[in-house]
Amino acid sequence: MGSRSSHDLETDVAIIGGGTAGLNSAMAAAQAGCRVLIVDKANIVHSGAIAGGIDHFMAFLETGEPWDTREAYLGWVGSVARGAADLEVQEAVYCDELKEALERVERIGVSLRQPDGKIFRTAALGQPGPYAINFDGKKLKPKMAIEVRRRKCRVLNRVQVTNLYLHDGELAGFTGFDIRSGDFYRIRAKAVVIATGNTNRMFNAQVGNPFNLWYCPANTGDLHRAAFDAGVALANMEYVRMTIVPKGFSTPGFNAFFGMGAQLVNSLREPFMKNYHEMGNKAPRNFIVWGALQELKEGRGPIYMDCGHLKAKDLEHLFRTLGIDKDTLPEFLLAKGYAKDGAMIEMTVSEPMQARPSEVCGSGIRIGRDCASNVPGIFAAGDASDQMGCLHMATAGGFAAGRHAAAYAKKTAHRRPLATKAMAEEQARVFRPLERKSGSTYREFETIVRQICSDHFGPVKTELSLKAALEKLGRLDAARDELKADNLHELMRTHEAMNIHAVSKISATAALARRETRFPPYHYRADYPLSDDENFCGLMVIQKQPGGDVTTRLDKLRYAG
Ligand SMILES: Cc1cc2nc3c(=O)[nH]c(=O)nc-3n(C[C@H](O)[C@H](O)[C@H](O)COP(=O)(O)OP(=O)(O)OC[C@H]3O[C@@H](n4cnc5c(N)ncnc54)[C@H](O)[C@@H]3O)c2cc1C
Repeated sequence: MGSRSSHDLETDVAIIGGGTAGLNSAMAAAQAGCRVLIVDKANIVHSGAIAGGIDHFMAFLETGEPWDTREAYLGWVGSVARGAADLEVQEAVYCDELKEALERVERIGVSLRQPDGKIFRTAALGQPGPYAINFDGKKLKPKMAIEVRRRKCRVLNRVQVTNLYLHDGELAGFTGFDIRSGDFYRIRAKAVVIATGNTNRMFNAQVGNPFNLWYCPANTGDLHRAAFDAGVALANMEYVRMTIVPKGFSTPGFNAFFGMGAQLVNSLREPFMKNYHEMGNKAPRNFIVWGALQELKEGRGPIYMDCGHLKAKDLEHLFRTLGIDKDTLPEFLLAKGYAKDGAMIEMTVSEPMQARPSEVCGSGIRIGRDCASNVPGIFAAGDASDQMGCLHMATAGGFAAGRHAAAYAKKTAHRRPLATKAMAEEQARVFRPLERKSGSTYREFETIVRQICSDHFGPVKTELSLKAALEKLGRLDAARDELKADNLHELMRTHEAMNIHAVSKISATAALARRETRFPPYHYRADYPLSDDENFCGLMVIQKQPGGDVTTRLDKLRYAG
C-alpha cells in the first residue's frame, strides 16, 4: 500500500464533485477571477451521471409557440412539480441562465443540432410541448473537462471528500483521501460548491448487481451526509425515484422511446397508460412507473415497449441514437433480437434511488436564489441540491452556483482555520477500517442496508414500515465501528456504505414526516394515500441541530390555480 502522505491546500472556491454541475460551477468561478480547485472521487473526464454520454437537453426556446416561453415553462413547472419546486429559485437558477447555458454547450464543442443542422425536439414526461432537444452529447463530459483546464482550474481526481468543517458557524474547509495512494487532504476554501449528485445503491437493483444501476453507482450521498452533519438543511429527501428500463438492462432510454412515440402495453398487448393519466405515455415519469407497477400487480405483466407502429424514419432515428447515453444498449437490444423490427421490448420498473421526484427540481441541499445553503460559504448545485436536476439545470444552475460562490469568496477577506484536533480525529476515523484485522465488510453492511430500505420504503411506505426501517437502520449504528477494509478500494467503498446508511435514515425520517402521498409511487404512503395540499404543499426540510437532534419542518409553497 506504500506510505501515505498528508497535504494542506488552500483555494478561493472549491468544487466538490466534478460532474456536469460541478464543472459548470468551476467555469463560472474561474471566469469571475477566483482560484478554483475541483475535487472528484473519480476522473472528471468520465465521471458522474453523464459519463457514458447524454442526449436530451430541456429548454424553452421562445419560438413563438405558446408553450415555448419562460412563463409557460414556469407555469408547467409549478403544476408538474407542485410542492417540490420553488419557482423563485427555478427562475433564478434556470430561466435566467438558460440562454447562456445553451451557448456555452455549443462553444465548448458540442452541437445541440442534428447532422442536418436542425434542432430536433421531442416531448415526454408530461411536457406541454417538445421541450427536449435531442442531441449527441456523447463527448459533452470530456469537452467540459478540457474547458475547466483551459480556464486554469486545478483538478484533484480520485480524491473522496469525507467531511466538511466550519469555524464560528461558517465554512472553513473539508477533508478527503486519495483512493489510490491513500494520501490525506486538508483543504481550506473561502467557499465550496457541493455538486456530488444524488444517492444510489440504497435499494435492491433490478438485475441483482448493486453497481448495475440506472444512475451513477459512485454517487452515494457522501456530501449529503457530510453537509447534514455540519448543520446544512436538506429538502425533498423523502422521494424515492424510479423509472422504466428494459428488463435485464439498467438503462433508461425512457425519454428517447416515449419522445419518439413508443407506447407501453401489457401482456394482453393493451396500451394501458391512459388508464392512469390523461397524457398516456407522455405523462410525467412517476405516473408511468405507477401505471407499470399497477399492471404488474394486477397480473397483466410482463409489460412491453411497443415500437411497432412507429414510422420507419422515427424507428431509425430512435435506434441510431439509443446508444448515446449507454453504449451497450443497442447491442443488448440486438442480442435480444429486438432491433430487427423495433417492436415489443420487455420492460420493467428500475431500482428505486433517493432523488428528485420530477425532472424540474432536485433533492438534497436546500438552496435559495443564490444557490447558497443555510451555512455561510456552502453552496450547492445539480442533483445534490433541492432545486436542480437533469442536464438542463445542472448546466444552467451549476454555472449560477459557481458565480455566487465566487462573489462570496471575493468578499471574504480570510480563509477560516481548520482545527488541528478535528483534522487528526478525521484522519484516524477515515483510515481506521484499514487497521481492523477482523470485522464485517462493506458488502455485508451495505447489503443489509439495501434490504431494509427495499423491504420498508421502496416504493410503498407506511408509518409502521418507516418506523421499522428506522429501528433496524439504527441497530446497524454499532456495526459501523466494526467495518474492516483490506485495501484502499475497499476503504472508499466502506465510507460509501456508511454514507448510504446515513442517507437512508434521513430519507426515512423525512418520509415519516410527510403524512400524505405525493408523486406516487415516489412518496406513496399507503396509510395516507391521498395528496394533502392544504398541509403538505411545500418542501420537507430536514436538519441536524447543534445539539444533534434531527428536526423536520415544512417550507410551504403556494401556487396559483
Ligand atoms: C443514463 C442517464 C441518462 C440521462 N439522460 C438525461 C437526459 O437525456 N437529459 C437530462 O436532462 N438528464 C438526463 N440524465 C440526468 C442527468 O444526467 C443528471 O441529472 C446530471 O448529469 C447530474 O449532474 P450532477 O453534476 O449534479 O451530478 P453528476 O454528473 O452525477 O456528478 C457528481 C460527481 O460527484 C462526484 N462525487 C461523488 N461523491 C464524491 C465525493 N465524496 N468526493 C468527491 N467527488 C464525489 C462523482 O464522481 C461525480 O463526478 C440522465 C442520467 C443518466 C444516469
